[in-house]
Amino acid sequence: MRPRTNRFRMSTYDLRIRNATIYDGSGAPPVRGDLALSDGRIAAIGECHGTAADELDATGLAVAPGFIDAHTHDDRLLLADPALTPKLSQGVTTVIVGNCGISLAPLGARSAVPPLNLVADEAASQRFASFAAYFAALEAHPPALNCAALVGHTTLRVATMSALDRPANDGEIEAMQSLVREALDSGAIGASTGTYYAPANAATAGEIARVLEPLRGTGALIASHIRDEGERVLESMTEAMDIAAKLGVRQVISHHKVIGRANFGRSRETLALLEEVRAKADVCLDCYPYTASSTVLRADAAKQAQRVLIAWSKARPDAAGRYLDELAAETKLDPDALIDALQPAGAIYFSMDEADVERILAYPETMIGSDGLPHDAFPHPRLWGAFPRVLGRYARERKLFPLEVAIHKMTGLTADRFGLRNRGLLRPGFHADLVVFDPQTVEDAATFAQPMRPARGIATVYVNGALAWREGKPTGARTGRVLRRGDS
Ligand SMILES: [Zn+2]
Repeated sequence: MRPRTNRFRMSTYDLRIRNATIYDGSGAPPVRGDLALSDGRIAAIGECHGTAADELDATGLAVAPGFIDAHTHDDRLLLADPALTPKLSQGVTTVIVGNCGISLAPLGARSAVPPLNLVADEAASQRFASFAAYFAALEAHPPALNCAALVGHTTLRVATMSALDRPANDGEIEAMQSLVREALDSGAIGASTGTYYAPANAATAGEIARVLEPLRGTGALIASHIRDEGERVLESMTEAMDIAAKLGVRQVISHHKVIGRANFGRSRETLALLEEVRAKADVCLDCYPYTASSTVLRADAAKQAQRVLIAWSKARPDAAGRYLDELAAETKLDPDALIDALQPAGAIYFSMDEADVERILAYPETMIGSDGLPHDAFPHPRLWGAFPRVLGRYARERKLFPLEVAIHKMTGLTADRFGLRNRGLLRPGFHADLVVFDPQTVEDAATFAQPMRPARGIATVYVNGALAWREGKPTGARTGRVLRRGDS
């Protein structure tokens, strides 16, 4: 006799992960149990009764929401190399693109002046005059993981202005505003600025506030690469925070740090300022877990650094991976002349204090962002290692914070601050972006000598319910989505 339809209806899952140590992304301590997926969403957590098409025994392993990389320059990588191996191999399932003022869209056919050359190349097939066109290209050829995008103020300047060495005039500001509206209407989650860089250095706070006026009241946010992270770091933070306050929008201070030996220890001052401002404004940070920065090669940045490692050079490709002081000795050029001879080029600058990095990482409002530069010939190891380094070195070994707090800084906190709904936490009904890893062995393998090594300890990664990474290899699944502002 067939059983009657039972009161406790048995579910059918696509996958049940059994015996896992479950970190839900909220910062709460882990619980032991099962987690089941159906139709790309989390179906049940804890005791998952029913049948499952597939099972994974996660005894001894942790399961967490897929990591969200709060700060990337993967705008073009999503199209050029949709496997996104540097990120997927770390357990990252969502990247925020368009940071530091340098989004790929809507640059159109305009010249990719530095630092736009960190994301744009000359291929016309990877140039977009609108966010609608950029998102359409991503949806026509989906990458392995999700992305959400910011529109960059520097890109807007390059796209609309006849000269970059002055503030924008009224007509240019109106043209930039209409591009911001197009980006927001297409689903961009906010805007970014990069007044540190030449093409935006002449922009005043007044210009930026007017250009970004369309953000007001939309729920979109501003990510700010401030004007100076050295001697004038406090003034630069204040300038950026005043713009966000004026517009009444949430803000992320990007890759927060203090650089130059004379400024070591000043994260005490920057975090105190942030605490003070946070009493009345919604501002937070992202940070990468290294004492070296990386961007285009600049003489002023080289002077602030103890040492400089060349990441790429168009003029001298063989210089990638070499130290500037060694090259200078070999070529008998003084550092400034050598820097000129290498252009266009990118570099890694050893210019921070470990105590500052740890203090900033531990700050409760700090999210993890890699700031990796995916097109560099010899990239900063943060591209391949930032997330496992926080889990292994900073949580497990240095005990800077418990593992659940480390995970929160790369999941729940980030989803909340960027407005990514139904992601970043393990909750029934949430999208099934997941990482399964070994908390005893997870660690970064990428180093400044060998920067492109995948991390250790990441077992499997799921993107929208599909298995994307297993046994140290991508599966080839392309289930990443464009996450638009307000999507659920
Ligand atoms: Zn930046």
